[in-house]
Amino acid sequence: MPETREKPWPPDLDRYSRQMLFGPVGPAGQQRLRDSRALLIGVGALGTAQANSLVRAGLGHLKIIDRDFIELNNLQRQTLFDEQDIAENLPKAEAARRKLVRVNSAVTVEAVVADVNHANIEQLADGADILLDGTDNFETRYLINDLAVKTGRPWVYGAAVAATGLQMAILPGETACIRCVFEGRPPPQANPTCDTAGVLGPVVAMVADLQSLDAIKILTGHADTVTRRLTHVDGWAGRIVQLDVGSRRADCPCCGRGEFEFLSGRLGSAGVTLCGRNAVQVASPGAGAAVDFARIADRLGGVARPTYNQYLLKFDVEGIQVTVFSDGRAIITGTADPAQARTLYAKYVGS
Ligand SMILES: [Zn+2]
Repeated sequence: MPETREKPWPPDLDRYSRQMLFGPVGPAGQQRLRDSRALLIGVGALGTAQANSLVRAGLGHLKIIDRDFIELNNLQRQTLFDEQDIAENLPKAEAARRKLVRVNSAVTVEAVVADVNHANIEQLADGADILLDGTDNFETRYLINDLAVKTGRPWVYGAAVAATGLQMAILPGETACIRCVFEGRPPPQANPTCDTAGVLGPVVAMVADLQSLDAIKILTGHADTVTRRLTHVDGWAGRIVQLDVGSRRADCPCCGRGEFEFLSGRLGSAGVTLCGRNAVQVASPGAGAAVDFARIADRLGGVARPTYNQYLLKFDVEGIQVTVFSDGRAIITGTADPAQARTLYAKYVGS
């Protein structure tokens, strides 16, 4: 009798074998993960770590949205980026996509270079089974929370600053939402940010890993095992606590009364000043119509030396750095004054 040989696994199953050997995931959970679509909003430190984990785990489809380009001070904690990405002037979303498809070519990764706001979030989230927080501001989180609660989709909150972090999964209809937990809206200046208080890479990684773990639980069909508590990490003190946030509040404007104030655009500023960064974002006067970098570069020839690729155009002028994206939006670095930023934009980019 010839020796019977075990049939080799298809290569993609071998790729995920260690994860599938973990009972609660198993082949069924792996299949569910492969059938899932996630929207990741913001691909900085929390975002790169979540994207890396989920793409390696075998998520089916990941859409990443980010409005920014990469700076040298990002590399300490934003683990998908390197010096070459900076040399190539890549936007974060595109640099992340390039890395992720090299890690796992079976995952569809879509990069969108844009600013998420109440006018575009519904369309960007179309088809997503879960929304993942990689942002650095409460306004966008409240917007995500509104959309998640309104459409009954889970989202996973995460935040880190200095050596501390917070994480919680919001399961609409079951758990408290983020506005049940944080009643009012923290004013932008009230909290320390990564740009004023710094942040430690391993602390961000801890928070992002808690987010990724909750995402894997939810997408493999184990939302019941997700903790209903808010996890607080103090990396310097070496302490992790899970705080009881209670249940849904009947008087919560979002999940209690169903008033989606951020999604409707009633609340939320134009978001022009980039918190704590001495930079201002100027919205496109052309309502997102593609701009012609070659023409702008030509016009700027006499006053600045712009460089550009297909994603962005960058130049220094009057001691300030201007970065224009292909949708016409710009980030003006070196000023926190929206009026000055808009003046510079009109003067050098066009109105
Ligand atoms: Zn609520």
